[in-house]
Amino acid sequence: MIVIGAGPGGMTAALYASRANLSVLMLDRGIYGGQMNNTAEVENYPGFKSILGPDLAKEMYESSTQFDAEYAYGNVEKITVAADNAKIVKTDSDEYAAKALIIATGSQYKKLGVPGEDEYGGRGVSYCAVCDGAFFRDREVIVVGGGDSAIEEGSYLTQLVKKVDVVHRRDELRAQKILQDRAFANPKIDFTWDTIVTEIEGDGQKVTGVKTHNKKTGQDTEVSISGVFIYVGVEPMTEPFQKLGITDEEGWIKTNEKMETAVSGIFAIGDVRKKELRQITTAVGDGSIAGQGVFSYIESLKD
Ligand code: FAD
Ligand code: NAP
Repeated sequence: MIVIGAGPGGMTAALYASRANLSVLMLDRGIYGGQMNNTAEVENYPGFKSILGPDLAKEMYESSTQFDAEYAYGNVEKITVAADNAKIVKTDSDEYAAKALIIATGSQYKKLGVPGEDEYGGRGVSYCAVCDGAFFRDREVIVVGGGDSAIEEGSYLTQLVKKVDVVHRRDELRAQKILQDRAFANPKIDFTWDTIVTEIEGDGQKVTGVKTHNKKTGQDTEVSISGVFIYVGVEPMTEPFQKLGITDEEGWIKTNEKMETAVSGIFAIGDVRKKELRQITTAVGDGSIAGQGVFSYIESLKD
């Protein structure tokens, strides 16, 4: 069986399936760990009071491969189902056939979609505080968004930068209460409410500021700033699976409680699923159910 995506969901599925003695290949187009690599501190994964995201990824990788599950590079581009019901997985460089598949490709950050965002990507515009925060040591940055990511990663940035201004389009945050309370108590975080960023400006080399618009007062402002961290939500990574007819109108994969999709032998887990709570714990939970479910499915093929 093949697991597509080696985030916390995929790694857990690989652990369960390989421990059930199945031959397991995990394919990922990046390093194992998924979104955990973009996360500073994880405080809500049981067993660790607090652990850095990349460290948790390493721990999970070591568990997931202990029963001989293999991990390989592969950017999955297309899935087809053969006449004998084999699942054919086409990557940018190889083709594989498997009896069953688990899709665990997660989600990716959304872009803000304003002028300057693409031009200054990697030159002041970032979607990852853990990766890029150190480049802004002792400087002032803005964080766009009001969800868990914006508030948690904004708080992390205060350990590195001089000041963080959270620019949010409403006057109320969406983030968990505990993250909000901490951010409100942090003297290095300011909030600019009811405000959207309309343009990211630069000198041709790097970001120098942003233009903002206050939705309540109508006021337009230019702010000098060196870094813009964007956390305005996520979207599913389901482009290679669109033709299978397993996604909803927004692209999330629909499953039942057994993590089964509408195609027999194809399961989906973690953030890529249509679900309420997207967390490491829920991805791991989904992974265990699907890892076990794949075993039952493959056994049923013997009947
Ligand atoms: P992901 O972790 O997204 O992994 C998906 C994997 O699939 C990736 O490795 C990707 O490279 C791979 N992939 C995608 N498409 C393809 C393809 N076509 N071919 C091959 N491989 C592919 N949750 C918490 O519980 N606690 C936190 O503190 C926390 N902090 C967060 C901070 C940030 C900034 C973000 C963005 C999220 C945070 N989350 C947190 C949420 C948590 O990271 C996710 O819920 C979790 O990682 C989802 O796991 P997953 O296995 O479903 O997918
Ligand atoms: P999110 O919860 O969807 O929040 C996105 C934020 O961006 C919202 O505040 C939204 O505003 C704002 N926004 C959306 N589009 C915008 C636009 N075009 N311009 C300006 N602002 C815009 O996304 P997220 O914070 O990245 O979280 C993603 C998932 O990961 C969630 O399930 C979250 O719980 C999880 N996560 C968990 C943790 C943790 O447990 N510690 C940490 C990080 C992430 P509105 O509020 O007005 O809609």
